[in-house]
Formats: sequence, C-alpha cells, structure tokens
Amino acid sequence: MSHHSTYIRPDAAAPVIRVAVSARHVHLSSSTIDILFGPHHHLQVRNPIQQPDQYASQECVTLVGPKGRLDNVRVVGPARDQDQVELARTDAAHLGLDPPLRESGHLQDTPGITLIGPLGSLAIHGGVIRALRHLHSSTADAVVLGLKDGDDVDITLHDGERTVKFDRVRVRVSPFYRLELHLDTDEAEAAGLAPHGTVQLPADIALRPRPFWPQTR
Ligand SMILES: [Zn+2]
Repeated sequence: MSHHSTYIRPDAAAPVIRVAVSARHVHLSSSTIDILFGPHHHLQVRNPIQQPDQYASQECVTLVGPKGRLDNVRVVGPARDQDQVELARTDAAHLGLDPPLRESGHLQDTPGITLIGPLGSLAIHGGVIRALRHLHSSTADAVVLGLKDGDDVDITLHDGERTVKFDRVRVRVSPFYRLELHLDTDEAEAAGLAPHGTVQLPADIALRPRPFWPQTR
C-alpha cells in the first residue's frame, strides 16, 4: 500500500495537544440515581472535567458482572437520558464482560451489568461499552490542524523511549472543546502514560489526517 504520509507536529504555530486518561466511570439517568442514592438525590460536584458541563461527582457505585466486581467507580455528572458504563478492556475482563467499542450514547446491543449504590441496586440490561478513543478539538484548532468533526486520525505518541501509534482516533469538534486526546487506562498504560484518572499530561503528538490513507481498509 503506498501512501503519502504527512505529519503535522505541534510546533510554534501549532496548538498544544494534551492527553486526558479516562478511568472507568458511569453516567446515570435520574431514575437510576434515585434508586442507587435515594429519591431526588442530586449528584455532588467533586471536580469539573475538561469538557463542557461535565464533572466527576462525589458519588461512586460498585459494578458487579458475571465474574467479578469493581468498587468505587466514579459517577460522572450531570444525569443523562440513559445509563452508560465505560470500561477499559482489563476492567471488562475482570467483570467477565466483553463490551464493544462505542461512541458515547451508542448503546444498542451492549451488555448489561449490576449497579450498586449506598441505598439500592439495579440490574441494567445494556449500556456497558469500551469508549472509542477520540480527540476533542475547538473549531479554531481544527482549522489549524485541517480536521473536521467525524474525521478519523492516526495519533503517534512519543514518550522519549517508545513510540505508540493509535490509529483511527475519532475527531470531535465543537467551539466549546479544547484540544485534548481522550484515552482509556489500558491505552494510556500502553503509551507509557500514568493512569491517573482524568489527570492531564502534556504529550508530543503527531497527527496524520485520515485523507492520506485509502478510504477502504
Ligand atoms: Zn472525551
């Protein structure tokens, strides 16, 4: 396969790209919050996270799957329309689940799980995913990088010792986003980045926009 690879490296003219590592977490509907934490419970903000209006709450749940459980799994607020559990592959294996890679909100044909809170528990019949890695970008940065919403790009991380390439990173563009690569804890581990939840780490990243590859693969 021949292709022209064009690397865009952050330099004086290019935006700085940060990496945010998303540890396993859940998004809950208000009715599920009522069941797990009590009627009319409101999630308490622990710390804001980078993307607009999202926050890590003080609330945690326990996840129970066919083969194991995970305690102290953070609830990310605010409440959503549907419950969604985001796991890394190793988390899923520990629980005995094999969830598909999905974009947030695309929950058709995903496995269920049992959620346990301080005041109740609930078996949900779907909603468990491995989050598709993605790059958030402001509209202005997307113009500089030649990217548009929905693009897939390859991103190469250099940690000084090793180079790890993540292929097919979905690009999400919004005026409210800042330029940030979102990886799960397994992906961060593979790239030599410490798995510190949503801590942000500077990284040396090269982008190759998808159009330089053939469309079929
Ligand atoms: Zn994200």
